[in-house]
Amino acid sequence: MTAAFKISLPNGLNYDQPTGLFIDNEYVPANGEKFTVYNPTTDEEIITLQGASEEDVDKAVAAARRAFDGEWSELEAVERGALLYKLAELIDRDRKLLASIDSFDNGKSFSDAYGGDLLESYNVFRYYAGAADKITGKTIETSHKKLAYVLQEPLGVCGQIIPWNYPFMMLAWKVAPALACGNTIVLKPAEQTPLSALYFGKLIVEAGFPPGVVNIIPGLGYISGKALAGHMDVDKIAFTGSTATGRSIMKSAASNLKNITLECGGKSPSIVFEDADLDQAVKWCHSGIMDNMGQVCTSTSRIYVQDTIYDEFLAKFTEKTKEAATKIGDPFHEDTYQGPQVSKAQFDKVLSYIDEGKKSGARVLHGGAKHGDKGYFIQPTVFADTTEDMKIVKEEIFGPVVAISKFSTEAEVIAKANDTSYGLAAAVFTQKVTKAHKVARKIQAGMVFINSSGDSHFGIPFGGYKSSGIGRELGQYALDAYTQSKAVHVNLGTEL
Ligand code: ADP
Repeated sequence: MTAAFKISLPNGLNYDQPTGLFIDNEYVPANGEKFTVYNPTTDEEIITLQGASEEDVDKAVAAARRAFDGEWSELEAVERGALLYKLAELIDRDRKLLASIDSFDNGKSFSDAYGGDLLESYNVFRYYAGAADKITGKTIETSHKKLAYVLQEPLGVCGQIIPWNYPFMMLAWKVAPALACGNTIVLKPAEQTPLSALYFGKLIVEAGFPPGVVNIIPGLGYISGKALAGHMDVDKIAFTGSTATGRSIMKSAASNLKNITLECGGKSPSIVFEDADLDQAVKWCHSGIMDNMGQVCTSTSRIYVQDTIYDEFLAKFTEKTKEAATKIGDPFHEDTYQGPQVSKAQFDKVLSYIDEGKKSGARVLHGGAKHGDKGYFIQPTVFADTTEDMKIVKEEIFGPVVAISKFSTEAEVIAKANDTSYGLAAAVFTQKVTKAHKVARKIQAGMVFINSSGDSHFGIPFGGYKSSGIGRELGQYALDAYTQSKAVHVNLGTEL
């Protein structure tokens, strides 16, 4: 067993933070590289942890394999569902603590973590608890003499590599469907935000999961993540993170032709037509890029506004940004809308994009610098009159930075919206029903929001076109992503 570390959270909660690796239902020491978790609000160290070495990854995978070959596969689907329900209830019981932990090491506002991430996580576990015993195959009659039935079987050991922007929620999106389908798991949280995932091990034990079903191995991406993605005894790798890392995970996963699901980056457009409800469009365009400090893969970071309403939109959008900028600060303060960026590295990266935008001649309507002297806070930054060749229009920034430009025709804006290697999401603002649906069809993206932004729901597929990823999470689609089909051919006749 490893020693727990006492953490006092800024809102007065105290708890024992488990350390090490969670393997076979126990916290055991790690043998890999050390890494430090920071509080992004203050730039102070929270804890230094030891990450998983390649040998540690082997141990975790072996535990997951033993569980898959043993007790876990013996359980009836309804029993798997019952365990998931139990887990959901424990998440609900510890909701405040889990939300506080995510707010502490990520910097997101506690109210978002509590009312958004943790509520969603609870619902995701309940959704897949209910789905566990409803995974069915098909029977297909191929002729009068033959039929085939198709079994939906689990894949086996699933490696899951998650990012830091929604630490616990990303865990929920991946762990719940994989378990519902009867797989076992080795989960690697992001090195910036491993605390709630490590704590989750305690809930796995308390819920009564057999040892080895869920294993949690914090560690560095290029060591533990890479070893997991390339491991010859891992059957699937599911990843959320940047497109660059997704590409390298896909290469590692080629070792044994793993099943993969990749949910990667985006440079999603918002299109505002002149017939839109302008106040609504401003509101959703603003939250579409500024929520979660712009650290959302579906952030609508490019806004195209029809030329006839461009100036009015810019004035209202700037006003809205100014108002929201009064709520930058301590994530635990109940009025806070915007906390710090997650890390010094992200903070520096976003600021360098802001510099780049200024150099390229985009007009700054708001922000354009860091906020305050402590922590990784950045002023929400609004660029106008941007052009398609600018880096801030082409590349994912993953911060509170938006590029706004104008268009005149529908065909022009569709071409601009699709002129990207990404294809995760898009938003369309118009009051004309036919136009909304026509444009939605022409957009090359996995998700389109009509008169809205940032929507996701645990019943609806989530994922991208083009370099934004492969496969879909959530809903029925995740059950497909965590199972494989076996066709059993039955001969009812006697002739060849
Ligand atoms: P960021 O660059 O913002 O930290 P990443 O996409 O690199 O985002 O990280 C998302 C997750 O992928 C994290 O858990 C990280 O540790 C992991 N990761 C990073 N590099 C690799 C890699 N080469 N192989 C496997 N996992 C990786």
